[in-house]
Amino acid sequence: MIVFKFGGASVKNANSIINVAQILKKFYHQQAIVVVISAMDKTTNALEDLAKFATQNLKEDTWNQFKKIQDFHYQIIDDLFKNQSEEIKKEIEPFFIELEAITKGILLLGDYPNRIWDKVMAFGELLSTKIIASYLSFIGIENQWKDARTFIITDHQYRQADIIGSLTNQKVKENFQNLKKGFLTITQGYIGSTPEGITTTLGREGSDYTASILGAILDAEKVVVWKDVAGIMSGDPKKFPDAQKIDYLSYEQAIEMTFYGATVIHPKTIKPLKNANIPLEVKCFLDVDANGTWIGIPGHSNQNTSIRIIKKNVTVFNIQPKDFSFMDETWTSTVYNYATKAGVKVLLVQSSAISLQLCLEFHNTRNKEFQNLLTEEFWVNVQNDLYLHSLLNCYQPFCFEDKIIMGQKIGKNYHWVSENENL
Ligand code: ASP
Ligand code: MG
Repeated sequence: MIVFKFGGASVKNANSIINVAQILKKFYHQQAIVVVISAMDKTTNALEDLAKFATQNLKEDTWNQFKKIQDFHYQIIDDLFKNQSEEIKKEIEPFFIELEAITKGILLLGDYPNRIWDKVMAFGELLSTKIIASYLSFIGIENQWKDARTFIITDHQYRQADIIGSLTNQKVKENFQNLKKGFLTITQGYIGSTPEGITTTLGREGSDYTASILGAILDAEKVVVWKDVAGIMSGDPKKFPDAQKIDYLSYEQAIEMTFYGATVIHPKTIKPLKNANIPLEVKCFLDVDANGTWIGIPGHSNQNTSIRIIKKNVTVFNIQPKDFSFMDETWTSTVYNYATKAGVKVLLVQSSAISLQLCLEFHNTRNKEFQNLLTEEFWVNVQNDLYLHSLLNCYQPFCFEDKIIMGQKIGKNYHWVSENENL
């Protein structure tokens, strides 16, 4: 079997859904396919706005936003199902009734705990998969719709939940016994539930992760992430006009890229696939027959292409023991204990005789907590709003600029932090 993942851009309107259906039609007689789908277009952002308006007690904006989300989905249903659209609208009505009730609750409370936030966000994926599954049936493509919350089992970290491997493994195996050729399974990315059944989400853009978890547990032949670009590029084409498509990446290269800020696939996607030895293909839904990028094909990696990534909004902590002692192993481990305690994400480390420099992902509360923990024993200097530049697989000599704040070379990979986005 194989797993396909379609993101919001691939199902942004009726025409793009018709295109997805064509792709599925082309492949589904060859093997069983589990299809993971995101919310349509920018629906997740629209739901975020809905919850925000409601929290601020902006009643008119809230209900306008609610209507906007509803109309957007109803328009797609009208376009897809023509004179049978009323039937489909009836089918998805319970979702809107529930969303309306929750929205009223948020308006009343003036607050939305993370747990409620996840409940609201889940409607994007639930609506999109219901509509698409119905459309596939409508055009004669046999399929089953599955609620991912019955098998993606997570901890209680709402908005950023982690998958509980053992439970998810068991539930996925129970739920996916009837896979066969010529029969699709449609499910949602990004959403899951706690063992008690409370809705959670895996973090924004988390659908890729769902696809890779399913691929790994079901021992898929491959996972295909369908994108609107030709594959994984050597840089953001808007910034680097000479960016090229990369044909192959090793798992390690792909992990490095996503860790340092390439947004083409979710950073958590690679690990489950690497552990289960399942390749990932990133392919263009606008050009189905073209080769995309393959990740994890034995013996194939990116040999020739340098990759440029710029991660915005990083922070550098410069840390020195107050008593002017050496930044030795003991002090370093103290700093790391605080980093773990505060939950900050370290991207780059550099040390010298009496100082340690850490480049961190920006996170307002966690980074502040880290600073608070440090201040008794250390002088701490914090610089925000910086750019982390990465140049991976660089096979020509490269010199760091004078102006950089910190930088290092590991093998053929260079990383540096600067105040400037452009160098
Ligand atoms: N719909 C979610 C988001 O926009 C998840 C995803 O698309 O992967 O973040
Ligand atoms: Mg998306």
